[in-house]
Amino acid sequence: MAGRQFTRLRAFILSICLFLAGCSATQEDSLQEASTGLFAMETYMELTAYGGSAETALEQSADYITELEAMWSVTDESSEIYRVNHSNGQPVSVSPETEKLLRFSLEIAERTNGALDPTIYPLINAWGFIDQEYRIPADEEIENLLTLTGYEQITLAEGSVTLPQGMQIDLGAVGKGYTGELLADYLKNQGITSALLDIGGNIQLIGGRPDGSSWKLGIQNPFGDGSIGVLEAEDCAVVTSGGYERYFTDDSGNKYCHILDPATGKPADSGLVSVTIIADSGLLCDALSTAIFVMGSEKGIEYWRTYGGFDMLLITSENEIILTEGIAGRFALNNGQSYAVQVLEA
Ligand code: ADP
Ligand code: MG
Repeated sequence: MAGRQFTRLRAFILSICLFLAGCSATQEDSLQEASTGLFAMETYMELTAYGGSAETALEQSADYITELEAMWSVTDESSEIYRVNHSNGQPVSVSPETEKLLRFSLEIAERTNGALDPTIYPLINAWGFIDQEYRIPADEEIENLLTLTGYEQITLAEGSVTLPQGMQIDLGAVGKGYTGELLADYLKNQGITSALLDIGGNIQLIGGRPDGSSWKLGIQNPFGDGSIGVLEAEDCAVVTSGGYERYFTDDSGNKYCHILDPATGKPADSGLVSVTIIADSGLLCDALSTAIFVMGSEKGIEYWRTYGGFDMLLITSENEIILTEGIAGRFALNNGQSYAVQVLEA
């Protein structure tokens, strides 16, 4: 009797030990961090993922980014976009990724009355934002180039794009957000449940941190160094467009930013200095962060009320923060930051 009890107890202890060993093995596995940094799409990207398969999955992600860049680059002569831009009005066949990116851009262009317009490229080029030979084009030159813009003139059929002769497109306002979204889908398929993909400041998150807590993201100070506050988020995209990201200054100190208002052909001057969009889709976030930066707070708020499906945090040149109710409880201003904060309710 005593012997059998001892055996049972031993078996019980053994099974506890095995259970604990099992726990620590899976926990260790999920905490295993892999990260990779690379320069692509004219920006620095840093991908961090957790789990035993993370390292291999990130290596493949880097190849995937290279493939996407090869489709969308405006300067690489073999890219799909380069071919569209030099097609002399002939249809050009494109990949499903490019078709989706363009179709979505056109939908947002339509909804924002052209605040997002992929045909703005000739002006981006004229202002020197492609070759970094910055200049201020004369009004007449801007007027002339504006006649070569207008998203309505793009014809998108299944698998092909036709652009009138002389027009050119640029998917720079949406490509990085879509890249983050595609990478997250890929990594989730590889079994990754926790990752932070920083695509040049466009963040795409998979799950929460490996310990189960939320990711804590700094919101860049548009007026200086560091961050103004922290946003908690998980399993979504967080994308910021800001006038401080890329700009040049003239002799009098005036700043010219890389986001242009397609209505004027000049740098956007809507009173917003930073627009952060939070939603599941990185593509939606990237498209809207650029569009709302151009539209300004009033039209941006109207857009949010009409279409919804995302949260946003706007910073105005008057030191105001406007944020939607869905993230109000998840954003905390850093000590010492003085902003008037307004929460929007639907
Ligand atoms: P970033 O990619 O620098 O984070 P955005 O997503 O706002 O910022 O994209 C800005 C880029 O999009 C510019 O560098 C330019 O190539 C292009 N662009 C600028 N203004 C517009 C616009 N109104 N519509 C579409 N694309 C734009
Ligand atoms: Mg954008």
